[in-house]
Amino acid sequence: MVEGFNGTAVQRPRGKKMNIKEILEKDSFSREDIVKLLQAKGEERRLLFTRSAEIKEKYIGSKVWFRGLIEFSNVCSKDCLYCGIRKGNKNLKRYNLSDDEILAAAKFAFDNNYGSLALQSGEIESQAFTKRAPAFHGPTMRPSTTGPTGE
Ligand code: SF4
Repeated sequence: MVEGFNGTAVQRPRGKKMNIKEILEKDSFSREDIVKLLQAKGEERRLLFTRSAEIKEKYIGSKVWFRGLIEFSNVCSKDCLYCGIRKGNKNLKRYNLSDDEILAAAKFAFDNNYGSLALQSGEIESQAFTKRAPAFHGPTMRPSTTGPTGE
């Protein structure tokens, strides 16, 4: 017995490496299983994708849920090297949506039954910036009892 990633005990034949088909029949995966799945190629990868599609169909079905993301500003005071909107990047035009533009985008998401909505921006250390996000919480979230997440 070995422990799967969710803590459940998993039976494993001693001395024998499992093939992809055997791994895909399990309810939980060990680290070794996950590594093998991530390295799958050719026919093994096809089996993995087929199994993934079966599980997705079982739990989600064929519906598609829109998820809204409003990038309301690309102004940032930080300089994370991997990030395109870091303050040191001079090769982009900065923007900062107005409150009305943000609310209009949120209304669009609501009117079109988006399942959720997130607001995102660069990071600025100021009182004005900190106070801005909660100000949108009420007006943008109030109608959330209907639509896809309210079903
Ligand atoms: S947006 Fe986030 S990740 Fe990008 S530079 Fe600013 S703090 Fe870093």
